[in-house]
Amino acid sequence: MKTENVGTIQNKNIIVLGLAKSGLAVAKLLVRLGANVTVNERQVRESCQGVEELEQLGISVICGSHPTELLEGNVSMIVKNPGIPFDIPFLQEAEKKGIPIVTEVEIAYLISEAPIIGITGSNGKTTTTTLIYEMLKESDREPIIAGNIGTVLSQVAETAQQDQWLVAELSSFQLLGTDQFRPRIATLLNVFDAHLDYHHTKEHYVFSKARLFANQRADDVAVLNYDHELTRGLADQLHSQIAWFSRKTDVSRGAFIQDGKIVSKDRQGNIVELVPLQELKLIGAHNVENALAAVSVALEAGAKIERIRHVLTTFEGVEHRLQFVREVEGVRYYNDSKATNSVATRKSVESFSVPVVLIAGGLDRGDDFHELEDLFRTRVKALVAYGQNSKKMLEVAKRIGVNQIISVDNVNEAVESAAQFAQTGDVVLLSPASASWDQFTSFEERGDMFTQSVHKLR
Ligand code: ADP
Repeated sequence: MKTENVGTIQNKNIIVLGLAKSGLAVAKLLVRLGANVTVNERQVRESCQGVEELEQLGISVICGSHPTELLEGNVSMIVKNPGIPFDIPFLQEAEKKGIPIVTEVEIAYLISEAPIIGITGSNGKTTTTTLIYEMLKESDREPIIAGNIGTVLSQVAETAQQDQWLVAELSSFQLLGTDQFRPRIATLLNVFDAHLDYHHTKEHYVFSKARLFANQRADDVAVLNYDHELTRGLADQLHSQIAWFSRKTDVSRGAFIQDGKIVSKDRQGNIVELVPLQELKLIGAHNVENALAAVSVALEAGAKIERIRHVLTTFEGVEHRLQFVREVEGVRYYNDSKATNSVATRKSVESFSVPVVLIAGGLDRGDDFHELEDLFRTRVKALVAYGQNSKKMLEVAKRIGVNQIISVDNVNEAVESAAQFAQTGDVVLLSPASASWDQFTSFEERGDMFTQSVHKLR
């Protein structure tokens, strides 16, 4: 642990705002580091987990509301859950008082001995983070994977060693609460119109993503997507060295496609062939981008070429992300429950060259599904819609001329209807283009239900 920074925490009064998994972990960590911690959660005490455990550690836990009186003591810092917006009265009051507001990612940075690799973007974070982790692991670098992907970053940062890499998947919500956070290698994969309900404008969303690079210095590396104007344009504003990845063009340093092969180019301009595209185990053009990003980052982090090749040719993808489930009577079923917006669904459907029976729908977040129109015209032979926004989605499909459309109540029924629409050679794809929270607690639960239903098919 970086002990020189513990002074900014020791004996300080710190409020942890929001008691989800990360709140619980960071509160315990801060107490271990010698802070006086108060946890404040909006939900009533009975619906909170871990309250007793925290109280036994001497943490005071205030549930039910965010009373501004809590800010009256000598508060040094607020560590907020990434999902809590900055514009709630409690945080606005804290800002007025000049109290720093951070997320636990900042704490992770302050205490981690291990250098951090930060991965963010609208889509592809988990896949790319996992690929980078695998490439470094195979290269005997003992990396640690954490962040938005599962394990709380600050929790593992405490024991991470100098010669390890902390490979961190980061959301824009987490990044908005950073101050000194400085990843030695950082990549922004892409920027699409996701999360506009929280960020209000695209500029704000891009701003939050660009926080990733804000503290980088000349010996750090930013890995940018050359093919997206917004990410390419960032290069001029950064202090770090730039490496690229591109599916479309040769780049000065990084990874790209040449003669149908994934190749890398180091800072001296030496080109190395990695694998032919058809040997890449992941499917879909979007996954080629993720693979290129991972190659570019992993090489900067010292992964071995041979091991990178091995991962590219063996890694089958992460659960719920275009995950192959089963083949029944010549129809292949894929679980892409993680596709929670239209852009993700479009990329997934475009990965198949055969007709797709699409199962989609879920929480209505105001999307007009304009992004799906092309697919409905060209690739989707049938649409099975369910959930809060199903009507809207069906209307779009109907207007475009998809012949086979049906609205059902849930994922189980959706699988049965999809099986009836599908013929040998087709793909049935759960790729909802929507969040899951109208019917499920998580996209994982939704994907598991789909998988179970597919296994029940005869
Ligand atoms: P994230 O962690 O950012 O949500 P994932 O790797 O979990 O990303 O992938 C989620 C979904 O997003 C995938 O199922 C796929 O449909 C889509 N996706 C993945 N990578 C990309 C990409 N590079 N560009 C666009 N869409 C992508």
